[in-house]
Amino acid sequence: MSKPVTHKSLSTFLRLVSQFEPQTIRFNNRLFVNRNLRLTSISRVGFDMDYTLAVYNEAFERLAWNLVLETLVRDFAFPSGILRFEYDPRFAIRGLVVDMTRGNIFKADRFRHVGRAFHGTRELEALERKDIYRRDRISLSAEDCYLVDTLFSVPEACMYAAYVDMMDSRPGTRTAAEYTAAYRAIRAATDQIHRDGSLKSRVTQALQDYLDVDPNLSDTLVQFLDSGKQLFLLTNSDWNYTNSVMSFLLDGVNPNFPRWTDYFGLAIVGAGKPNFFTTHEQIPFQEFACDSGKARVLSGGCFTVLREMFGGSGGSVLYVGDHIYGDIVSSKKVSTWRSCMIVPEMAAELAALEKVSEDQTKVDLLFRHRQRLGVELNYQQRLLNFLVDLMNDSRQDEWKTAARELRRLGEANAAKIFEELEETERQMVDTQNRVLAHFNPRWGMLFKEGDEHSVFGAQVEDYACVYTSKVSNFLSYSPHQYFTGARDLLPHEIEL
Ligand code: IMP
Ligand code: MG
Repeated sequence: MSKPVTHKSLSTFLRLVSQFEPQTIRFNNRLFVNRNLRLTSISRVGFDMDYTLAVYNEAFERLAWNLVLETLVRDFAFPSGILRFEYDPRFAIRGLVVDMTRGNIFKADRFRHVGRAFHGTRELEALERKDIYRRDRISLSAEDCYLVDTLFSVPEACMYAAYVDMMDSRPGTRTAAEYTAAYRAIRAATDQIHRDGSLKSRVTQALQDYLDVDPNLSDTLVQFLDSGKQLFLLTNSDWNYTNSVMSFLLDGVNPNFPRWTDYFGLAIVGAGKPNFFTTHEQIPFQEFACDSGKARVLSGGCFTVLREMFGGSGGSVLYVGDHIYGDIVSSKKVSTWRSCMIVPEMAAELAALEKVSEDQTKVDLLFRHRQRLGVELNYQQRLLNFLVDLMNDSRQDEWKTAARELRRLGEANAAKIFEELEETERQMVDTQNRVLAHFNPRWGMLFKEGDEHSVFGAQVEDYACVYTSKVSNFLSYSPHQYFTGARDLLPHEIEL
């Protein structure tokens, strides 16, 4: 006979069940939706590897930093003094723009309005910034600017700033060509350490030092598999590196999937994204002969050939990646694949947003109050102008007297509104500063610049169907989840 259900066991049961209710999913474990996504319509889920399944830590950034400095001294004739540069992991964030011609780094909003800018490590004064960036619409062309669009590039921006300081400390004026050459050298040295094996050999010797292992990764992949989806890997990394990293993350974690390749039907290595997606050529895959267990391993190739292999509708493929251009924008431009962007730095951003949510609401209220006061002040000012005209032009004495009286009242009113406007403005700035103190001290929020979306935030909104801080956040949801976002509203609909 089964045991009677007690009140206590029932409440424990309800608590267990309720953890799956959407509103109880912790902020940091949520997926955020730009375009509705029905998981039941997805039959294949593809994953990028680096910074998506394999998330590197600060020690990795420091390793890359040191290797780039050594390379610059050894192969690019940089002064050995740069070896004393200190890496500051908070100096730069994704989405910044390096203005190579000026030695500047800036953050812009989605209308390309530059909100903050640094020359080297010195913040530009507002006037200086406006003088440089407000004359014309800024161009983000590849000749002049480099967009820090992957986490791999973040240390580069920090190094450039330190080097610009060093360049400026020499007598004379630096030219645009010199500033540009310096960035291009740092870029080339970074490229070199990724390509010549110097970084990868160090990482594979001590993977545990450089990777943050997500204990829920295996369960997440299994949940996809159990709900009938096929998984594939699509990475720019080569086979040896991919095999080392993926083995470290997944081998032996689940007895039903002893090797990482047991989770994936297909692994595409050395893909060469974004070209993989954007090329107009039909590049065949190379079958890769290796000890790959159950997965078929291919290298190179291109999207059109993969589409033929997969058949079916592009809308049934979900691709999960971290690189805004290489994974998300480029795939969206050529395919109907659905996309999930992994933004590891969101974990800290969301924690900060939770802390400031009350103040953020206050800023929104103050913002609206300021708008209303502005409208009232405009009305008072127009009324006062009208009354002054009436006092001067009217031939009727009673009108003149009434206008004079009304003007006196109107002026007192306008003064009060003006005072309130100033106070509201002051409170808004104070509250905004309190909010910003929780984010990157130089750059503020990742997704915002001022009141607008940052360049990065706008790209995520425009191109990623959903976004989240880590792959295992899928585990918080049902494999049949219908992810729905807020209805897209234009300002006139909001005001309605
Ligand atoms: P994915 O994110 O899994 O597609 O792999 C990214 C690959 O690109 C890794 O193997 C990185 O080492 C490599 N990578 C990152 N930055 C650079 C670069 O600047 N030049 C060349 N390779 C890079
Ligand atoms: Mg990646």
